[in-house]
Amino acid sequence: MTVTKQIPLEEQVKKLALDEGAALVGICTADSIKEKDFSDASFMLPGAQSIVSIAIAMDDEIVKKYLSKEEYLPLCYEEGHITKDLLKIGDKIKELLEEKGFKAFRCNINFNYRNINTTSKAVVPAIKELIGLIDKEKDPNIELSQKEKRTLDMLKKMIFSGFKRSPMTLVPNFSHRCAAVAAGLGRVGWSGNVITEKYGARVLFGSILTDAKLTPDKPLEKNPCIKCKLCEKSCQGGLFAKDETETIKIADVEETIAKRNNYGYCIAICSGMAGQNKFKEWSTWSPFRLDDVDRLPLDDSITEYVQNMYVKALEKGGKEAENVLRLIENSFLGRNNKPAEDFRPTCGCCQLVCGPDIKSKKESYNLLVNSGCADKVPY
Ligand code: SF4
Ligand code: SF4
Repeated sequence: MTVTKQIPLEEQVKKLALDEGAALVGICTADSIKEKDFSDASFMLPGAQSIVSIAIAMDDEIVKKYLSKEEYLPLCYEEGHITKDLLKIGDKIKELLEEKGFKAFRCNINFNYRNINTTSKAVVPAIKELIGLIDKEKDPNIELSQKEKRTLDMLKKMIFSGFKRSPMTLVPNFSHRCAAVAAGLGRVGWSGNVITEKYGARVLFGSILTDAKLTPDKPLEKNPCIKCKLCEKSCQGGLFAKDETETIKIADVEETIAKRNNYGYCIAICSGMAGQNKFKEWSTWSPFRLDDVDRLPLDDSITEYVQNMYVKALEKGGKEAENVLRLIENSFLGRNNKPAEDFRPTCGCCQLVCGPDIKSKKESYNLLVNSGCADKVPY
């Protein structure tokens, strides 16, 4: 009699992920990362026991061309397509787990925050209408009707007050980074990004939650971060506090990383609202600049300054206002279902500069700081 050997479910899941195009895959228990709100898997799947963490690497040449300001759109497509592929692989893993009788939930990859109230879908059309009226008001050949003037005043009051309450710390529905660390895909580096042994920080992660009790992998023993601090030196925002550290713990692994200043420093730059802050010889891909100041405030007034950046950009109309609309569309309508071409990063330098080895990191950093300043919207 032939006995068919049953392949363990963990192996089936991992083989499926790799066959479908994941570069890395691992498993952790939900318990190992549940103490922090943003990595408590039961928020998205009550009864979750395990998490499958997957990663896809970015193309190094595409990243280098982005950092050197040679080519912008290929990285947008690359991030867009990787996101779609992570979602597709995640759905296949979810199907497999459900076929075996377990519950499973595939997390979204981007713009899923617990503290952004996305219930009002009317926000996006309202902002579109506001931008249309502001652009019309600026046109010397057009006079707004009384009704349009009233609508403009009403929309400004409503929308501007909303922006002035924007949070500076965003809490994800589920932290892919925590799962990736616990599942052994990488460790948290100086920048707070997850650094993998083979690809550095040039990866995007996805997570699938399940109530199946899968055998977990172990976190990596050695942190691949070599503390070169080129990530910190690549941050126009100034998020990382110079020479200060903080200790974080994920799945019982302690890491000493760069202490963070107010997250507003990243939001101002990474959102594309401004392309320069700390370093004047080069910029991110954003052609926009700070208003009235040379540097973002170095005290608590940074929060108010950044909240006002949205309002000022809307009042300027044109491309700067469109940038705000894009952020709001992503936040309220989701980014995961948008066409791959629609991804529009302008920074991400702390992650992208961290290539697979020290030679690549140094080369990438040099490309960035010698890339000059963007002076027009690149699309
Ligand atoms: S750039 Fe250097 S210091 Fe920063 S995370 Fe990567 S390896 Fe660590
Ligand atoms: S994304 Fe850009 S602004 Fe934000 S921390 Fe990284 S380098 Fe700094």
